[in-house]
Amino acid sequence: MYSYIIVHGRPHKPSIAVVGSYGVGMTMRVERMPAAGETVTRGEFARGPGGKGSNQAIAAARLGADVDLLTCVGSDDFGAEARELWRRESVRADHVKSGSRPTMVGFILVESGGENRIAIAPGALEELLPSDVEAFADSIEAADVCLVSLEIPIKSAMTALAVARSVGTTTVLNPAPAVSLPDEAWPLIDYLTPNETEACILCGTDAAAPEVLLDTFWRRLPGTVVMTLGAEGALVGERGSPVRVPAVPVDRVIDTTGAGDAFSAALSVALAEGGSPRDATCFANAAGAHAVRGAEVIPSLPFRSELELEPAGA
Ligand code: ADP
Repeated sequence: MYSYIIVHGRPHKPSIAVVGSYGVGMTMRVERMPAAGETVTRGEFARGPGGKGSNQAIAAARLGADVDLLTCVGSDDFGAEARELWRRESVRADHVKSGSRPTMVGFILVESGGENRIAIAPGALEELLPSDVEAFADSIEAADVCLVSLEIPIKSAMTALAVARSVGTTTVLNPAPAVSLPDEAWPLIDYLTPNETEACILCGTDAAAPEVLLDTFWRRLPGTVVMTLGAEGALVGERGSPVRVPAVPVDRVIDTTGAGDAFSAALSVALAEGGSPRDATCFANAAGAHAVRGAEVIPSLPFRSELELEPAGA
C-alpha cells in the first residue's frame, strides 16, 4: 500500500500547477461509418468533459493536491459548465482564460466494431498564449510540481516549462498528443511521461522495445522518463538504471480513456509529496488501473481513499 509521505516531519500537502487543455467530447456510436454524402441513423449520443489538462487537474485534486489550472475556454455554455465542474472538484480556476472562440470540442464517431474517427476543433485553446502562461508564473512558483501537456499551443507549453525551471518548480511533461519537441525543451523536463506510441513518435521511430527507446531519450533528456506500458505498468528510466514497475492487476478493463491522465496526475502528486520516482510510479500505476475499470473519464478518476485500499503492485 502507498502511504502518505512525510516531508520534514510534517505531512506535506502537495501543490500542483497544471497547464493544459479543456474540451468537450461529443461521442456518437453508430453501426457503421457514413460514406461521403451519406447519412446513417440510429446513433447513440453521449457528451462529456475532457481535455488532458482538466482531466489531470481533477485527478490531482481528487488525490489530495492543491491544484491551480491554466487553460482557455470559450465565453459559451461549455466554458461555463467547465468552470462549474472545476468548482465542484476543488480545482482552482481563477487564471483560466475566457477566449473569443468556442470551447474546444471533439467529434468522435465510434463504429460497432470499436473503430473510431475523431475530429477536433481547438477553438479557444489556440488563444492560450505564452503571455497567459507568464501571468500564471506566481502559481507555478507556489507549486511543488508544474504538470504540462500538449493539446495547447506548443509555445505556451514550452513557456510553462521554462517558467517552472526559472523558479525551481519540478516539471512533468505528459507529451500527449506527441509532437516533435524543440531542442530547447529537453533540458527543461524533469519527468517525461509518454505512452509507447508517444515515445516512438518523440524518438522518431516506428517501433522499438521500451528499453531501446530509453537509450534514445537519454541522448537528449537529462531528466527521468516514466514510460507507461498499459497493462504492463510502467518503465522508470533514471539515467543508466531502468526499472520496470508492474501494473496493478485489473479483473475487467472497461475503458482505457483517461488512464494516462490519471497516471501523470498521480505521479505528479506523489513526487510533490517527496516520493521517489519508483514509489511515485507505483502510486501512478494504481491510479491508472483504477481509471481503466470504469466507463467515461471523470467518473473513473480515483479519489485518494480508493487507491489506499488497493495493493500498489510493488
Ligand atoms: P495511455 O492511456 O496514455 O495510452 P497507457 O495505456 O500506457 O497510457 O496506460 C497508462 C497507465 O494506466 C499504465 O501505465 C498503467 O499504470 C495503467 N493501465 C492501463 N491499462 C491497464 C490495464 N489493462 N491494467 C492495469 N493497469 C493499466
